[in-house]
Amino acid sequence: MKIIAGNWKMNGTRADLDTMIGAISKVKTENRVILCVPFTLLRAGVENVAIGAQDISAHAKGAYTGEVSGAMLREAGAKYVIVGHSERRMYHDETNDIVRQKVQMALESGLTPIVCVGETMEEKRAGKTFDVIESMVRESLPTDVHDDIIIAYEPRWAIGAGITPTTQEIADAHKVIADTLSYMGLDGTPILYGASVNPLNVGDIVAIRNVGGVLVGGASLKPQEFVTIIESAK
Ligand code: PEP
Repeated sequence: MKIIAGNWKMNGTRADLDTMIGAISKVKTENRVILCVPFTLLRAGVENVAIGAQDISAHAKGAYTGEVSGAMLREAGAKYVIVGHSERRMYHDETNDIVRQKVQMALESGLTPIVCVGETMEEKRAGKTFDVIESMVRESLPTDVHDDIIIAYEPRWAIGAGITPTTQEIADAHKVIADTLSYMGLDGTPILYGASVNPLNVGDIVAIRNVGGVLVGGASLKPQEFVTIIESAK
């Protein structure tokens, strides 16, 4: 069983979601399929696909204009939430500290957080990839987590770029993350690979050791491509 999660970012209409859910409902798969959609598309009662959000407030309620709490996400039908996506870290200055508070809030709200970590090209060139992802994992998770969480390794330089790291680079990064999680008492936590996954490369990627599935951006918006990814990930 692999986890296939889609990240729609700020894309999609209700009609698009209906079409995608219809396409996925025809697929026979043992994989767990998750679609993380904009807040306005959250819905309950969907079969075959778990619905997730793409962000959560670090606060439970109150004067935080524009934010959406964990309880609200749950009520709207979300079971998962992406936390600390590189676009949130980049455009909204989310630090590991903020990400950790959001992860805590997700867990307290009964949501499974999909926590994103990954190095920039600058950090990669400076040979800092392993240090960066190790500290991102350590600092982005509360110390006493025992609940379900999912980690997504998303090298920032490969997101939406149509390029992926080599098989060895993915294997090495996932090993660092798996070892860090093990040190934190979180053995068995699924680690997804994300960035430029497509129907042609997904089979090779999910065959890499310690890769528990994929987080898919652009290709998760195209029913035919996303369905092929779900079917090809074994
Ligand atoms: C993402 O941004 O989470 C992502 C995986 O994007 P893409 O697949 O488009 O690279």
